[in-house]
Amino acid sequence: MQQTYIKENLVVKMQEDLKRALQKPMNKRSWIMVIDTDKCIGCNACVVSCIAENVSPPGVSYRVVNDIEDGEYPEVSRYFMPTNCQQCDNPPCIEGIPEDAYTKRADGILVFHYDKLKGKKLFQKVENQCPYTAVYYDEGTFYTANTPKLEPYETRPSYEYGEEWSRVGKGQSPINAVRKCHFCLHRLEASMLPACVTTCVGRAMYFGDKNDTDNVVNKLLKNRKWVLINESEGTKPRVFYLTGTILNKETCMTCHG
Ligand code: SF4
Ligand code: SF4
Repeated sequence: MQQTYIKENLVVKMQEDLKRALQKPMNKRSWIMVIDTDKCIGCNACVVSCIAENVSPPGVSYRVVNDIEDGEYPEVSRYFMPTNCQQCDNPPCIEGIPEDAYTKRADGILVFHYDKLKGKKLFQKVENQCPYTAVYYDEGTFYTANTPKLEPYETRPSYEYGEEWSRVGKGQSPINAVRKCHFCLHRLEASMLPACVTTCVGRAMYFGDKNDTDNVVNKLLKNRKWVLINESEGTKPRVFYLTGTILNKETCMTCHG
């Protein structure tokens, strides 16, 4: 299995898988992400591409690559743990939130409606309820504030959830909204993989339709062991972590049982 995969270009294969999935009605596909921590080299290229894709301001990064040290000298190990919103099927973050502020799509993606999910108070509620620290508040700041002019990379629009958002000018804005990863829904609907997946330098990131038994993600899940983080909390996350030489079920479950 590993041999076969080394010979194939997995990004091209996942791209083909994606196109096949998009031919089906939305309620027949089920998006999942698979992460292989054995392959993550902690380069943060995925974080940079995510920030660029979504025009995220200071303090907002839908992806975080945790640098984890385990054990005590001389038996110490270090590994990297990329995380983002898990698009939970039973999401605790939305408890008590106005129903028109979010949509759980049939393909699994949890949409936050920026025009309805605004303000610090709502943010704090959502943040406190998310066990994955996956939500962020857009304070309206800019990396190039207090310089002669804002740079175009900060003033250009983003296209989250398939709509145009602008952090300057009169258009609809994500400022003061609760923001999070959405599996790059706007890219998916344009037949492109999420930015983090295409950028991943270590080929640690995979994406596809859980309902397609013949695709890359399902072959990985069939041939490797995996864990879901915080599974016992009943959140039903859609991000699968392959276990291997670094990560294993026992070590994960110490903190995330
Ligand atoms: S990871 Fe957090 S923000 Fe994302 S769906 Fe689950 S509970 Fe909600
Ligand atoms: S780009 Fe890939 S290898 Fe680099 S930190 Fe992100 S997940 Fe890890």
